[in-house]
Amino acid sequence: AGKKRGIVIKDDWPGYGLDLFTYPEHYHDDIDSVYIPHGVVMNRTERLARYIVDDFVDDDIMVLCVLKGGYKFCADLMECIKVLGCNSNKYLETRVEFIRLKSYLNDQSTEDLHIIGSRDLSFLLGKSVLIVEAIVDTGKTMKTLRKHVETFQPKMVKVAGLLVKRAPNMDENLTDYVGFEIPNRFVVGYALDYNEYFRDLNHICVISKSGKQKYKV
Ligand code: 5GP
Repeated sequence: AGKKRGIVIKDDWPGYGLDLFTYPEHYHDDIDSVYIPHGVVMNRTERLARYIVDDFVDDDIMVLCVLKGGYKFCADLMECIKVLGCNSNKYLETRVEFIRLKSYLNDQSTEDLHIIGSRDLSFLLGKSVLIVEAIVDTGKTMKTLRKHVETFQPKMVKVAGLLVKRAPNMDENLTDYVGFEIPNRFVVGYALDYNEYFRDLNHICVISKSGKQKYKV
């Protein structure tokens, strides 16, 4: 269960008060609370790395990092996998490739998904693939990406998602390694953006009403 649902954050979790942590001052009015502190994200990432090292029987994996939101999680996860390897005798050789997808405008998911960059993934043939994504919301993006990746006939495909939003009919099989299961709220920070803002915030935070207004396009 710890792999599939992750740490479950309840609907009534208000987050921590902003004054309990440090954060870039320019976001003072733009966030309501620290939803998941950076340190907790890091500790959970370490645990996910352990699940992955235990599950991948091959000695090499192809990591597919979903940009831009996934870059921090991917970098930290790969670092943890490397450290685990150095401290045991199971060293996973990891290679990383980047893929960019865009489906959001403001805080709304749009129907059309665009794959930008690295469209030809033929190097995945016969490989064990780990897709690394920061957040899975409706799951549309991940479903589309998974299908796309599978057309290149990898040996196996697993998905690591730092955050998965809870929904009534969510597909629990879409994400193999879940960091946190969260309520349906729009979160920013740790490379997750709102119209390109908030990537420079370490903690995962809930955007405020005025923040949404201020950075709307
Ligand atoms: P899905 O296709 O699962 O509905 O949407 C997944 C994508 O939507 C993610 O890759 C991410 O770009 C974006 N997204 C969904 N929820 C959030 C959120 O709460 N905050 C941010 N910053 N992006 C989100």
